[in-house]
Amino acid sequence: MQHQINQTKLKLSPIVQSMLRCPICNSELVVRSEDSQCINSQCQALFPHKNRIPILINESASIFSIDDFVNERKLYFDLSPKNQFLETLKNLVPSISLNLKAKRNYEQFSKKLHMRCIHPKVLVIGGSILGKGIENIVENSNLEIVETDVSFGSRTTLICDAHNIPFADRSFDGVIIQAVLEHVVDPWCCVEEIYRVLKDDGLVYAETPFMQQVHGGCYDFTRFTFLGHRRLFRKFEEIESGAVAGPGMALAWSYSYLLLSFTTSKFWRKLIGLFVRITAFPLKYLDYLLIDCPGTLDAASAYYFIGKKSQKILSDKELIKLYQGAC
Ligand SMILES: [Zn+2]
Repeated sequence: MQHQINQTKLKLSPIVQSMLRCPICNSELVVRSEDSQCINSQCQALFPHKNRIPILINESASIFSIDDFVNERKLYFDLSPKNQFLETLKNLVPSISLNLKAKRNYEQFSKKLHMRCIHPKVLVIGGSILGKGIENIVENSNLEIVETDVSFGSRTTLICDAHNIPFADRSFDGVIIQAVLEHVVDPWCCVEEIYRVLKDDGLVYAETPFMQQVHGGCYDFTRFTFLGHRRLFRKFEEIESGAVAGPGMALAWSYSYLLLSFTTSKFWRKLIGLFVRITAFPLKYLDYLLIDCPGTLDAASAYYFIGKKSQKILSDKELIKLYQGAC
């Protein structure tokens, strides 16, 4: 059955629309201007669109419901404008966070994608706003970028849940998942989905926190050590991995959350946030010295992994030989 594609109404390009699949049964979809419907007669699920963005959620397997998005309910990932005065004040003081590798890693990732083909297709999971260092990827007109999320950020073109990615098998040359896997209930399931939608030898770029406190309220579930993160991607051949943010940033966060533990008052927490920035922002600069040290692999704020989809699975015996920390 041919797709019935409206080529002007949706934010997704026609070629990406043709790759969409039902998030429940993985069958093809009839994509109309106002909604999309599964062609499988046993399923026939109907998925509404909102603001020219399809909402392709498998509600039976997700913590989100389609209604949340149709009615634009406030979720944690609400990206509506914040208090401008407080934001300006906050931005006058340096942040306690510092990602030292993302920009360089994305340049590497982009080069490797272009070695695969002239116009690689790249899925960004959690791409409603710009991730750290990702500018040269999203501004590269030679890449077909699909930015998805569970929120209507300025860049969202598709609402979907990473546990059921609504694309056909082997759709993408690359998948980016930066600072997202801690916010999904089952990261192993999500990485299995990434594996499925990648073409053979397709590339993944992931950044995931280790030493970071809860930063998403009820939408924050898991942390990974360096080896735990490698095991998560055990069906991928490693191209490169390491720390993106070091122990200096981890210490600044610990100091911040120590002080924040004294109160639940929004007012005091905002003031503490400012106080922490003023008194602890230099700690992150230690990471320039530490980022590539073995000890940092035991103490990093976050890790990255660049890998290639493989037919071989890394065994746990092989995994423990990959420990490169200081112990
Ligand atoms: Zn279906």
